[in-house]
Amino acid sequence: MAQAQLHIEILDFSQNTLSIIYAACRQCYSTKFAGEMFREGVNDIKNQEEFVKQVVYSGHESPLEHVKFTFAVEGVSRALTHQLVRHRIASYSQQSQRYVKESDFDYIIPPSIETDEEMKKEYTNIMQEIQASYRHLLSAFEKKGKKGESANQDVRFVLPQAAETKIVVTMNCRELLHFFKERCCSRAQWEIRKLAEEMLELCKQKLPAVFSNAGAKCVALGYCPEGARFTCKKYPLKKALGGKYKISIKEEFNGVIKT
Ligand SMILES: Cc1cc2nc3c(=O)[nH]c(=O)nc-3n(C[C@H](O)[C@H](O)[C@H](O)COP(=O)(O)OP(=O)(O)OC[C@H]3O[C@@H](n4cnc5c(N)ncnc54)[C@H](O)[C@@H]3O)c2cc1C
Repeated sequence: MAQAQLHIEILDFSQNTLSIIYAACRQCYSTKFAGEMFREGVNDIKNQEEFVKQVVYSGHESPLEHVKFTFAVEGVSRALTHQLVRHRIASYSQQSQRYVKESDFDYIIPPSIETDEEMKKEYTNIMQEIQASYRHLLSAFEKKGKKGESANQDVRFVLPQAAETKIVVTMNCRELLHFFKERCCSRAQWEIRKLAEEMLELCKQKLPAVFSNAGAKCVALGYCPEGARFTCKKYPLKKALGGKYKISIKEEFNGVIKT
C-alpha cells in the first residue's frame, strides 16, 4: 500500500496520421480521389501540415475523427476515472475491482493534503483503516466459502475514491480536442487537468499540426467563456473585448482554406 503517481504512455496511434487527415480534408474540396491525394501528399509534410492547421483552425473538425490515439494510464484515482468516462466518444478498458483483489491498494493524495503534515497523517491513517477493513471482510467471506470475484465485488464497496486505478483510453483527435478544451481549463478538477495536460503534451509531440494550438477553450477562443465569477484571468472575458474578437477571427479565416 503506497502513494501512487500519474504515469501515461501512448500505446498506439494511427499510422500516417497527418496524411490521413490531409486526404480526408482534401476530399471535401476536390474532384480527385482521396487515395490519390494521400499518395501524392505523403512526401510533402510541410504542405500537409499547413493545410491541416488551417482546416483545424477553421473549425472543420470531422476529418480529425479518422485518427485516434490510445493511452495507457496508471497512478490515477477512481475519482478521476469517474470523470474521464463521462466523455462518451471514446473507448475504455479499466482495471476491475471485481477480478483484481485490492487488499494492498495504492492511493492518490491530493496536493492540498500532501503538503499539510497533520492532514496527510489523518489521510494515510484512514487509508490504512480501510485496507484493514477490506482484508477483514474478505477473510470473513472466505470463512463462509465465498472468494474470488464474488467476494471482491461486495468488499470493494468500502474502497475509497482515492484508490489507484489503471485504464486504457482511446480517443480520436476531434474528441481529444474537445477533451482538452474542457479538462485543461482551470475550472476542471486538478487531477483530471493534470492528466489532460500530460496527454496534450504527448499529442503535440506526435501530431503538432492538430495539437500545437490545442488546450482549454480560451486558447482557441481568445477569451474566457467562464464569466467573471469563475475566470482564472489568463484570458480577458468576452465582455471585456467588446466584440473585437469576432473581427480578428474573421480576418484570420479569410481565404485560409486553399482547395
Ligand atoms: C469543469 C467541469 C465541471 C463538471 N461538473 C459536473 C457536475 O457537477 N456534474 C456532472 O454530472 N457532470 C459534470 N461535468 C461533466 C460534464 O457535464 C460532461 O459530462 C463531461 O464533461 C463530458 O463532456 P461532453 O458531454 O461535452 O462530451 P463527450 O461525451 O466527450 O462528447 C463530445 C461531444 O459530443 C456530443 N455528444 C456526445 N454525446 C451526445 C448526445 N448523447 N447527444 C448530443 N450530443 C452528444 C456533444 O457535442 C459533446 O460535447 C463537469 C465537467 C467539467 C469540465
